[in-house]
Amino acid sequence: MGRSEELFERAKRVIPGGVNSPVRAFGSVGLTPRFISRADRQKIYDADGRAYTDYVGSWGPMILGHNHPVVREAVERAVKDGLSFGAATEHEVEMAELVCGAVPSVELVRMVNSGTEAVMSAVRAARGFTDRDKLVKFAGCYHGHSDAMLVKAGSGVMTAGVPDSAGVPASCARDTLTAAYNDLESVELLFAENPGRIAAVIVEPVAANMGVVEPAGGFLKGLRRLCDENGAALIFDEVITGFRLAFGGAQERYGVEADLVTYGKIIGAGMPVGAYGGRREIMERVAPVGSVYQAGTLSGNPVAMAAGLAQLRYLREHPEVYAHIESLGRRLRAGLREAAPGCAVTGAGSLCCLFFTPGPVVDYTTAKAADTARFARYFRFLLDRGIYTAPSQFEALFLSDAHTEGDVDALAACIADFFRTEKN
Ligand SMILES: *Cc1c(COP(=O)(O)O)cnc(C)c1O
Repeated sequence: MGRSEELFERAKRVIPGGVNSPVRAFGSVGLTPRFISRADRQKIYDADGRAYTDYVGSWGPMILGHNHPVVREAVERAVKDGLSFGAATEHEVEMAELVCGAVPSVELVRMVNSGTEAVMSAVRAARGFTDRDKLVKFAGCYHGHSDAMLVKAGSGVMTAGVPDSAGVPASCARDTLTAAYNDLESVELLFAENPGRIAAVIVEPVAANMGVVEPAGGFLKGLRRLCDENGAALIFDEVITGFRLAFGGAQERYGVEADLVTYGKIIGAGMPVGAYGGRREIMERVAPVGSVYQAGTLSGNPVAMAAGLAQLRYLREHPEVYAHIESLGRRLRAGLREAAPGCAVTGAGSLCCLFFTPGPVVDYTTAKAADTARFARYFRFLLDRGIYTAPSQFEALFLSDAHTEGDVDALAACIADFFRTEKN
């Protein structure tokens, strides 16, 4: 038995399922999880000393690759001054100035500790601002694990095959209405059925938790229009896309401005950070200015801010990072299309996905059509050959600045091998 297996046996005795987040379990691919002991650049190393080229990147934060010296050194400097004060710091001001400077729609921003918390808080602000209760979300979009968001959610919820979570009171889910991604008519219908009652429409501007599903032309602009016509707030959940699809995120890439935006992952560079921000008149409803209460003992933590700031400043000063990961993404998608005939290849920028279904994949239903048993065989084939991808069909392949053309060519070649062995 390897060290990972030993650790997993111990973990299962004291942690539900042996993991602190269900997406880390390898159950759906029929394996036990690798325990990771360290990571550097595009490589991660497991407890048995095996190296893998990593296409998870901690589920998005590591856009510069693991253990980037600029981020690590910023953390080392911050740690020397103390871990937490529970009081205002200069780091937080700099972070807020940076985010507001990067994203025109964000006039005020509040730091929190996770993407889940960012979404939960943004939704509360939208409800407080509009004085309405109902929300529209899209099937297959994941917005963290708060009660109101665990309705037709993507990511681990989709992999586990449980459409909704136990423990969510029906009263919490009642106000969450579900529309189909890329289907403006389904949103129009909900507005028509609930006149004056919808506080917000929340969307992943590129859906990256049901595999990767791009917004069809006009979809995001159509949501903007529908929200304007109906007095609802448009919330972009940019926890994955923020600072990834462009420095200004999906809003910059697609030229659509949201009323509220949520961040996580890249904004913390691997530390537990989230943020929500948006139009001044909405954000001024948040305490202590307004009556929407939201707080956090560790929010804006100085070490976490130092990490995030170092990464974001590096990205701002090195636009060539975006050019590099963008071209790697294009190269990988081209390679996958050649390597995997009969499979849909999707993606945007440095997010890619190979669906074990011919597609086109445009929403939850068409994503769900993927052959997950075949995905599990593919996953094991890659892992055996030193390539670490998310252990689920319904997650993205994440590229970082540390990846090379050689890496993505090797990934495509390995996948081509898988398809050849499958035939024999
Ligand atoms: C990861 C994710 C979240 C939740 O963030 P956590 O930090 O895991 O709470 C929310 N929305 C999207 C789009 C995500 O990908």
